[in-house]
Amino acid sequence: MNIEIINTGNELMLGRVLNTHQQWLCRQFADAGYVVTRQVAVADTAVAIQQAVREALTRARLIVCTGGLGPTSDDLTRDAIAELVGRPLREDPAIVAALEAWYAARQRTPSPAVMLQAQVPEGATVLPNANGTAPGLLMEVRVKEGGVGTGSSWLVMLPGPPRELRPMFTAHVLPWVKATFPLAAPFVCRTLRSTGVPESTMQQQIAGPLAALVARGLEIGYCARPGEVDVRLVARGPLASALVTEAEAIVRREVGRSLYGVEGESLEAAVVRELTGRRQSLAVAESCTGGRIANRVTDVPGASEVFWGGFITYSNALKERLLGVRAETLAAHGAVSEATAREMAEGARARTGADYALAATGIAGPGGATPDKPVGTVLIALAGPESTEVVRMLNAFDRDTFKHVTSQQALELLRQRLLTQRCAPPTP
Ligand code: ATP
Repeated sequence: MNIEIINTGNELMLGRVLNTHQQWLCRQFADAGYVVTRQVAVADTAVAIQQAVREALTRARLIVCTGGLGPTSDDLTRDAIAELVGRPLREDPAIVAALEAWYAARQRTPSPAVMLQAQVPEGATVLPNANGTAPGLLMEVRVKEGGVGTGSSWLVMLPGPPRELRPMFTAHVLPWVKATFPLAAPFVCRTLRSTGVPESTMQQQIAGPLAALVARGLEIGYCARPGEVDVRLVARGPLASALVTEAEAIVRREVGRSLYGVEGESLEAAVVRELTGRRQSLAVAESCTGGRIANRVTDVPGASEVFWGGFITYSNALKERLLGVRAETLAAHGAVSEATAREMAEGARARTGADYALAATGIAGPGGATPDKPVGTVLIALAGPESTEVVRMLNAFDRDTFKHVTSQQALELLRQRLLTQRCAPPTP
């Protein structure tokens, strides 16, 4: 089945916004066993949108258009497509009511333009928008309405903002795709997420043990991002599920400790889950990460069960005042040192009473390096009921990647400690 994606938006043409819809939508389709055959981005003009849709209708069974469903003058997708396929627009009273309720709940008065979003092409199904005002639209189009060829195609129109598009696609579009276009053969895709093992090492460790399954049709994919590697196990056909289950068991046997989650689970979610299960708590003391560890942890729903808070101590003065780092330690070893990291973590733990405290102090760069502490040097400490440990890393990246990778290493240090505790025999 041909699936095409059309992203609309002048902001895409002008390089003002990265077209993340392409990547995200292709991934969602691929993970469900469907392959997108073409993707195109066009400007916010009726001519460009109609031309792209007309061409896609000649090839594709399913066309997903994104953006241009809002109330402003550059939001033309709905009108352009309705005109192209000759469907009159009609106001949908249910959408009008939903829009009025949406504004009333926020104690705001909608401008008349807002109600343009209630216009629905004849015969289209409305996809509710749980996170915004513009509903999505789904409609079957006989191909002669919009292009050449025979049969019919389906057009899906989704709002531009990712936080609206993604939940709408997951809740309404993907289930509909699976029901309307069932796959001829079962397709199973499982993504195992790892951290702490470089991509090449990962391949070296699992490729051999998986070779026999590859010969039977297993596909292995690797996706590396700063600080982590995803391993994708894919199989098709009647034995797909068994093949992927067997492959997952082998990967877990070979590199199980570095696997923190499956599919979309984040490392911070895994840490929160682990702490929640043990009814234990976490605090942080952050210097070079500037709050990134706390930010990641608090992104996880339910983090308040386990995360008590933290300190952003960028200056030496605050390291002393808020965390109790000793002036002598700073004078003798410097702020970026094992001794300082240790005192930061122990200070955060003592002052909050949390079970665990993570601390990070380092040189993000580009300045600040010394001969024995190059840019990227970072000390990460974990203080816990058992002991305090400090690791030294060299994360020579741009500042943003430095912060991300450092926060990743800190969270992984804690996750590994929790795993060890889980495996340890109970104290008599
Ligand atoms: P709105 O009601 O916000 O106008 P809309 O459905 O009309 O929604 P657009 O106006 O096209 O959507 O886009 C709104 C915003 O969504 C853009 O400014 C941009 O930040 C984001 N966006 C749109 N298309 C993309 C894309 N392809 N990739 C990533 N972000 C996008």
